[in-house]
Amino acid sequence: MNILNYTEEHHEFRKRLQDYFAKEVTPYAAKWETDHIIPKEAWKKAGKAGFLCTSVSKEYGGIGGDFIYSAIVCEEMTKTFQTGLAMSLHSDVVVPYIDEYGSEELKKRFLPGCVSGDIVAAVAMTEPDAGSDLSSLTTTAVEDGDEIIISGSKTFISNGIHCDAVIVAAKDPAVENPYQAMSLYVVEDGTPGFTRGRHLDKMGWHSQDTAELFFNDCRIPKANLLGEKGYGFLMLMGKLQQERLVCAMGAVYGARQVIDGAVEYFKTTKDASGKPLSKYQAVQFALVEMETDVRIAETFIQKLIADHMEKADIKTETSMAKYWTTDLANRVSGRCLEMMEDFGMVEQNPMVQAWRDFRITSIFAGTNEIMKFIVAKLMQL
Ligand SMILES: Cc1cc2nc3c(=O)[nH]c(=O)nc-3n(C[C@H](O)[C@H](O)[C@H](O)COP(=O)(O)OP(=O)(O)OC[C@H]3O[C@@H](n4cnc5c(N)ncnc54)[C@H](O)[C@@H]3O)c2cc1C
Repeated sequence: MNILNYTEEHHEFRKRLQDYFAKEVTPYAAKWETDHIIPKEAWKKAGKAGFLCTSVSKEYGGIGGDFIYSAIVCEEMTKTFQTGLAMSLHSDVVVPYIDEYGSEELKKRFLPGCVSGDIVAAVAMTEPDAGSDLSSLTTTAVEDGDEIIISGSKTFISNGIHCDAVIVAAKDPAVENPYQAMSLYVVEDGTPGFTRGRHLDKMGWHSQDTAELFFNDCRIPKANLLGEKGYGFLMLMGKLQQERLVCAMGAVYGARQVIDGAVEYFKTTKDASGKPLSKYQAVQFALVEMETDVRIAETFIQKLIADHMEKADIKTETSMAKYWTTDLANRVSGRCLEMMEDFGMVEQNPMVQAWRDFRITSIFAGTNEIMKFIVAKLMQL
């Protein structure tokens, strides 16, 4: 039984997306991974084809779709074995800040471009000395007439090279309480004082442009403030449920790819006597255990998607899911590679890339230790 109610429209959307990926993404994925970046044009093509920001309402160019559309995009994306066209990050993690907290003017200015792919979005919280503990960030935002002056640096920002609009968390130095000092601002590419640093060379997510960003007395209009001044921390917290859920969804859908690939490999690979490796009990038990784990994860994630669509407060469950599913994806991919022996070491095995890419998922969107720290608090331990 599928917990989610897929409609004909959802199925039709998935089919169109699969056709689109087969033509415009999968054939280029290996090159993008080698290039360590995707062509920016890929964002525009995905947007023009109608696959970005599906939740944005028709008024701003979107289709006003429910969260199942986001789940479909996330699931189909894991099958493309590339991370540069980070559609879920753009559509379901970053743009919702503008959609929910932006003024009417900001929404009109940014949302249509985010939907069409002409504006690639990023969110910049992390700094060289502030990761898990956002209260210690040092980027400042100082008012000067009708402008805000942003100063500071950010690091490990996904879409950092390609982004046209970046949501920056910064503090008013005049406010003592670090949580009340924080606000979110939209900074546009081309604003004087906004520059890129290194395009970070990572062990995984090779085609994803993760970068350092610098703000040197960067003046933006006061109108680029998201929501109310001093509510930045609360806005970030408000969006974390969806961010963690999206991260967990990616881990589960990715783990499904890995276990399916492994089952196929062990059924079709034979030993010297011609016996398929899947006929050995040690292999069977390992595959059965991993398949069981992935099915449990799939059921859990479907339930959470359904709850999230009903706007239930599932912060505890999404924090649990984020750490447990990303650990699971790491475990499953590592175990499959180990069982594949020499084939588990070669680059043409897509599972090698999956293993590298999963490594990162326990770190971003809040580390897995932080997830347990949050759950412990929510359990009042
Ligand atoms: C590929 C990639 C993409 C990213 N994309 C973005 C992005 O788009 N935007 C953005 O803002 N950031 C992004 N990040 C940054 C990411 O969110 C941070 O790396 C993460 O929040 C952890 O921060 P840190 O690396 O500074 O580790 P730290 O916070 O310094 O933590 C170091 C270790 O201490 C542990 N720890 C810290 N505090 C506690 C605690 N209270 N209890 C228990 N353990 C604790 C952590 O779990 C971790 O193991 C990205 C990172 C990566 C790797």
